[in-house]
Amino acid sequence: MSENRDPHVTKFVYDFTEGNKDLKDLLGGKGANLAEMTNLGLPVPPGFTITTEACRTYLDSGEEPAALRDEVSAHLDALETTMGKKLGQADDPLLVSVRSGAKFSMPGMMDTVLNIGLSDKSVQGLARQAGDERFAWDSYRRLIQMFGKTVLGVDGELFEDALEAAKAAKKVTVDTELEAADLEKLVTKFKKIVRTEAGRDFPQDPREQMDLAVKAVFDSWNGDRAKLYRRQERIPHDLGTAVNVCSMVFGNLGPDSGTGVAFTRDPASGQQGVYGDYLQNAQGEDVVAGIRNTVPLAELESIDKKSYDQLMQIMETLENHYKDLCDIEFTIERGQLWMLQTRVGKRTAGAAFRIATQLVDQGLIDEAEALTRVNGAQLAQLMFPRFDDEYARGGEGVEQVGRGIAASPGAAVGKAVFDSYTAVKWSRSGEKVILIRRETNPDDLDGMIAAEGILTSRGGKTSHAAVVARGMGKTCVCGAEELEVDTKRRRMTVPGGHVVEEGDVVSIDGSSGKVYLGEVPVVPSPVVEYFEGRMHPGADDADELVEAVHRMMAFADRKRRLRVRANADNAEDALRARRFGAQGIGLCRTEHMFLGDRRELVERLILADTEVEREESLKALLPLQKRDFVELFEAMDGLPVTIRLLDPPLHEFLPDITELSVRVALAESRQEPHENELRLLQAVHRLHEQNPMLGLRGVRLGLVIPGLFTMQVRAIAEAAAERRAAKCDPRAEIMIPLVGTVQELEIVREEADRVIAEVERTTGTRLKLAIGTMIELPRAALTAGQIAEAAEFFSFGTNDLTQTVWGFSRDDVEASFFTAYLEKGIFGVSPFETIDKDGVGSLVAAAAKAGRATRPDLKLGVCGEHGGDPESVHFFHEAGLDYVSCSPFRIPVARLEAGRAAVTSLGSDHR
Ligand code: ADP
Ligand code: MG
Ligand code: MG
Repeated sequence: MSENRDPHVTKFVYDFTEGNKDLKDLLGGKGANLAEMTNLGLPVPPGFTITTEACRTYLDSGEEPAALRDEVSAHLDALETTMGKKLGQADDPLLVSVRSGAKFSMPGMMDTVLNIGLSDKSVQGLARQAGDERFAWDSYRRLIQMFGKTVLGVDGELFEDALEAAKAAKKVTVDTELEAADLEKLVTKFKKIVRTEAGRDFPQDPREQMDLAVKAVFDSWNGDRAKLYRRQERIPHDLGTAVNVCSMVFGNLGPDSGTGVAFTRDPASGQQGVYGDYLQNAQGEDVVAGIRNTVPLAELESIDKKSYDQLMQIMETLENHYKDLCDIEFTIERGQLWMLQTRVGKRTAGAAFRIATQLVDQGLIDEAEALTRVNGAQLAQLMFPRFDDEYARGGEGVEQVGRGIAASPGAAVGKAVFDSYTAVKWSRSGEKVILIRRETNPDDLDGMIAAEGILTSRGGKTSHAAVVARGMGKTCVCGAEELEVDTKRRRMTVPGGHVVEEGDVVSIDGSSGKVYLGEVPVVPSPVVEYFEGRMHPGADDADELVEAVHRMMAFADRKRRLRVRANADNAEDALRARRFGAQGIGLCRTEHMFLGDRRELVERLILADTEVEREESLKALLPLQKRDFVELFEAMDGLPVTIRLLDPPLHEFLPDITELSVRVALAESRQEPHENELRLLQAVHRLHEQNPMLGLRGVRLGLVIPGLFTMQVRAIAEAAAERRAAKCDPRAEIMIPLVGTVQELEIVREEADRVIAEVERTTGTRLKLAIGTMIELPRAALTAGQIAEAAEFFSFGTNDLTQTVWGFSRDDVEASFFTAYLEKGIFGVSPFETIDKDGVGSLVAAAAKAGRATRPDLKLGVCGEHGGDPESVHFFHEAGLDYVSCSPFRIPVARLEAGRAAVTSLGSDHR
């Protein structure tokens, strides 16, 4: 709570007529929307909302502030006046519900208590007023049951058992067959249960009932389940919940009463129509609890035409007012319709895109607003391959056996293995495997890499398995608790007792959390087919989703300021990136060109003892490099291609030290030592580093291995000249990695300029090659003003920058302590996933500013993986960068988020 507000003047209670939908922080989602509906003139039972601030005050101080009690009294008085009866009044009681309602709806919060105000006395009054004794005693037993369970903490099963016993004694099967006298007896029994279990009597004072329920709602904010949920969903812990006190309306007063839920359009497809369920003669959650069969909402028309027509009218009003899909709870009491809740409804990713474009077509929202209705995470979800729905629902040999947390999306099929070793062994022999563990730990890393997907029976969204799988982009379902995993015996028992042995095929869906036995066929995403150009919007067979995505991408492209480039190392990736909308290459890693059969040439370069040997290997590499670049320029003709000179530590090109040592030792024991391997081993030893990430790499390599960088620059220049000669438009940018000080860059630059001039002279072509640097060390960021003197562009390497700013190496920490850090809330999300704005981000922003101060036309980009992360893209937009670069597959997400960043801040996101 804000320190400077005097609790005596703080308003803790708002009548439904005083609030509105924009006060969610204060009134919670439910309260804000009840107020909005009230003020729209819709039939909402009168009531009031106790604010989240009251909750925070209570939680901070441990007691309700006196002012709150008085204010509640005043609002209760007013409510009683409006309703013409008093809470719990003996002859004609006012009854209320006490309902929790935080800003975000949240499992673990206290369940609603209905019928507050009933007591041994007022139950008689209610019976007389309603002319229905059975109804009154049923309402009273429900109150004691709900109150006992949620407020007094009595085990709910005791009430259920007593109810069952009453039915058995009467030889009936459903509770509607119990009569008034049976229910009256049940009330006595329930009160006895409360006395024994809670050590106190069920409170007869209606105000005490209400106050205790309110307090219980406050307390439920800090319940274990609510806390866990907030941590997983990254909802702040200090929001608190509001409490709604709402006068009761009764759907259980006979066949002309009932209760229902409705959506203004289909939350799965976005289609407009009548969607919902209705249950006659029922109260509260009966409709979702499945105690009796509901009827489709459309049938209400024949049950109660007047209420149905009114409801349709109201739904249209709500959609036009909220300009979005709404979901609704309503009750009909003896032919009178009451609205009990509405909110902007949750929807599937596909429906989000469709609804956004439909609302634009209806003229309800504009393109900019439409962009705020979808997000990159939803688009990414639509781009993963999925399981064939039809098949997953019951294809031959397929059975859903569990459901866990959807920790990392995708669809994976493979043979069950229960340890990392087997996962690696089987995958080496070409098998696809799913690694199944109770939970994973750093020892499982190799197995996780080898597996198609990971399944655990324990742990949540921040468990080791979840964090590491997301980092690797691997499908993961975690915390599937119904599955009993026995790693020792290499098997898993599913509900019903079936045993899955090592080698049995399982399928896991990382987007829904579902686990199947058997092989579910995987279908490609239609959205990817569209981006690949294999499906065309506007074509006869184009589906609505593709149409909607196509239009939303066009909106985003029109609005965005950030350009989007791809990280691509070869022509194939470059072409795909172009299809996905890339406006150039932001990072081409040349080390990938030194692998395969070229490895030997690199080995020779590293082992060279003499100038001549070195020159020879460089000469051999030159034409190969040149070929690579020609192909790349061809694929990206007319668009910028940023080429990073060799970056990784040299030992990455040499054989593994242990393997090589063994080979050499064996050869020696056979007394046939291999000269070359011995030299290689010596080199490996010489180049071995304790911390290669901080060792001889990047620009440092270029400075100590004569001719290496100049060979690469020559290859780029000659390739560009060749493309020019072919009347094409190559736009190369040469990027120097790991620069820490301007002097390094100046030396490399001088040589590069010399080589480029030479190529220009011999080919007679003006090349216009730009030279710039990565900013990926804190020192580079801190001296960006100086570095800009020698650089035409900066590209922020946010992966290394995150490692060096935090002082940890990604490979080590993600597998070791990140889980603990996430669980303790030290970060809400891995700084490798979303840019750490306060630390790494502020360096980026400052370096951008300092660089531009030196060189106003300095081009600024980012090429770390953050370039494809939604939240980070918004940050880079704010920081004024020119472009982001990301893997080809993330390009649509980056385009969409860049568009969203231009029209909104993340704060206004839908949840
Ligand atoms: P939830 O957050 O789980 O949706 P609600 O507060 O909406 O909980 O209440 C649970 C059920 O009780 C819903 O079906 C709701 O419509 C019903 N309900 C709540 N308040 C009242 C009331 N004053 N009169 C009748 N039914 C109510
Ligand atoms: Mg509920
Ligand atoms: Mg509700």
